[in-house]
Amino acid sequence: MKITIYTLFPKMFDGFLTNSIIKRAISKKVVQIKIVNIRDYTKDKYGRVDTPPVSGGAGLIMKCQPIVDAIKNNNGYKILLSPRGKTFNEDKAKALAKKKEIALICGHYEGVDERVNKYVDELVSIGDYVLTGGEIASMAIADSVIRLLKGAITNTSLDNESFNDNLLEYPQYTEPYNYKGAKVPDVLYSGNHKVIDRYNRKMQLKLTKKYRPDLFRKIKLSKEDLRLLNEDEYTKLELAAIKKGKKYIPH
Ligand code: SAM
Repeated sequence: MKITIYTLFPKMFDGFLTNSIIKRAISKKVVQIKIVNIRDYTKDKYGRVDTPPVSGGAGLIMKCQPIVDAIKNNNGYKILLSPRGKTFNEDKAKALAKKKEIALICGHYEGVDERVNKYVDELVSIGDYVLTGGEIASMAIADSVIRLLKGAITNTSLDNESFNDNLLEYPQYTEPYNYKGAKVPDVLYSGNHKVIDRYNRKMQLKLTKKYRPDLFRKIKLSKEDLRLLNEDEYTKLELAAIKKGKKYIPH
């Protein structure tokens, strides 16, 4: 896969590209990442890439020409990072990981001339907050996409990860057994993989119910899931609502 990131601040990517899993994915040729400085494309005689908005007001807006010229020969799927875009999530990461090439275009300052929008395939946001620029957003997207690519990390690490089938991951433990009074659940030492899988599934359901009720509502609970939840504290009312196919509202 090829990822091209368009930015006014290429140096911000130095650490991202030269550490950990991303560094290894690049050296294993799982992904090719190119950082393009939008400034190199300006035709402004003073080298400007941004100016105040025509209506007046605070801040600088990135101009059309340098961005459009920078991306015009890129045949990949083009994403403009923008707080206005659809919120990024794991499903989107999976969809992007199937593409051969993507382009991530980073706005900065007060944003980007509105007319750039028609040169991109999609606007994407990484959440309901405003960053100083699209660079961190582009790193977040690239990172989550790259780790899904074959060869970036071992595939077993991806199984049961958070957000697969709307479930959060089950808790993981390391040695020692007893850390300042907090013990690893005994079942994890049982060596019985069926029992451990059942326990982990139960924990996934419970944690999702507790931390992400919005996701929990989307899960198609099997009879076994209901039984696992019922084993502990699942209330009769909740169970009855689910059995009748009614919307379950966790408290
Ligand atoms: N004035 C804009 C507004 O109110 O929507 C915010 C501009 S922001 C300071 C500058 C750039 O950062 C944006 O053009 C975009 O590329 C990027 N950015 C900021 N927040 C973002 C978010 N939540 N998701 C993705 N990109 C973001």
